[in-house]
Amino acid sequence: MTEHHMREIFEKKHPLLITNVLADGMVVDIFVDETGTIAGIGEKERKKHKAEAEFVVDGDGAIALPGLVNTHTHAAMTLLRGYADDMILQDWLTRKIWPLEAHLTADDVYHGTRLACMEMIRSGTTAFNDMYFFMDDAARAVDQSGIRAVLSYGFIDLFTEEKREKECKATEDLAAGIRKLDNPRIKAAAGPHAIYTVSREGLQWCAEFAREQKIGIHIHLSETEGEVNECIARYGKRPGTLLDECGVLTSRTVAAHCCWLDQAECTLLGNRGVHAAHNPASNMKLATNRAMPCHWLSAAGANICLGTDGSASNNSLDMFEESKIAALLQKFYWNNPTVLPAEEALSMATVNGAKALGFGTGKLMAGAPADIVLVTTHSACNTPLHHASSNLVYSCNGGAVETTICDGKVLMLEREIPGEAEIRERASRAARDLVHRAQSS
Ligand SMILES: [Zn+2]
Repeated sequence: MTEHHMREIFEKKHPLLITNVLADGMVVDIFVDETGTIAGIGEKERKKHKAEAEFVVDGDGAIALPGLVNTHTHAAMTLLRGYADDMILQDWLTRKIWPLEAHLTADDVYHGTRLACMEMIRSGTTAFNDMYFFMDDAARAVDQSGIRAVLSYGFIDLFTEEKREKECKATEDLAAGIRKLDNPRIKAAAGPHAIYTVSREGLQWCAEFAREQKIGIHIHLSETEGEVNECIARYGKRPGTLLDECGVLTSRTVAAHCCWLDQAECTLLGNRGVHAAHNPASNMKLATNRAMPCHWLSAAGANICLGTDGSASNNSLDMFEESKIAALLQKFYWNNPTVLPAEEALSMATVNGAKALGFGTGKLMAGAPADIVLVTTHSACNTPLHHASSNLVYSCNGGAVETTICDGKVLMLEREIPGEAEIRERASRAARDLVHRAQSS
């Protein structure tokens, strides 16, 4: 492909033929039509569609995967990456993170989210579930980046009515703003932050609003033992029960962390069809002292998916790394090497994530949205190739991704992302200025 030709491929959706890729153990071609849908996948696609395709992407033996789905992030926290590590959770939040966040501007969130989207594209993620502030600006960043997102405003009423009214208004405004954007890649959700930051009335309002608007709910649930004990002291019941009474547990709900659920709560989440987002790196870094009971949740019928959490507590958005950490943490914590095999960890990052966010099937199949990543096999991490899922989870990281396509549009080709240097430069300037403002106040 000439350089000029390469520029053009990034400009819009084109009918694409991806040749010679490994999908589910077979060498196939994939044809993507001009609507951004996988129109055909198999051995005969090249012959059928060669004339229609405006571009041919030579897959060269790469492994083709559905785009990964990150089901719990605070994307603009990329600006806080590496600002404060190795601290007790409460000190970390109150002394470092919250004082800095108090100085965040809409522009910061825009540049931080641009950086996050770029990092996700580079590591093969094509959709994410985000909760933060200034979400109109996050939406603008996602719109320009070309990937998919469910965006929620972090609703925190701190148990006062005055604050609650403001948070309801912010949630309504975001939903209206996103509807106006009318971009099928971007959806709104209600984002009640957690039971220790949102009153019962606030939780109920979010549940009702989400039901009315037919949008999702994004919440943190039982990350620490302390919040479970506090809930029992305040309400006389465990967090799962409280949330269910408020109408928050639904098949449109993504609950992040879920570390300290007991078995009855897992059953409840399963019965309600909740999606549980495992965040193993963040949990280990902040020492939550318990791993999400994936096996109980799965057995109860809950959908288990995977998230990185924000870049201040991970500090990466690489979902390949996260799938490895998930598989290792589950085995270590539950003292059983058979739990969360590679294949299942990969499903959490793809099919299950797509289901949680309502973005397509999370599978490479005809009729599915063309969210496709190509992982090179010309690398140590994929040599030899006994089992692709084993290599992808245990050996590779996002650095092995060469090409990322979302909604049929090529966002990264042969590791090139247009405009990357500027995105990095603007984000690093925003981060520097933010720290300066916080320190001089
Ligand atoms: Zn979080």
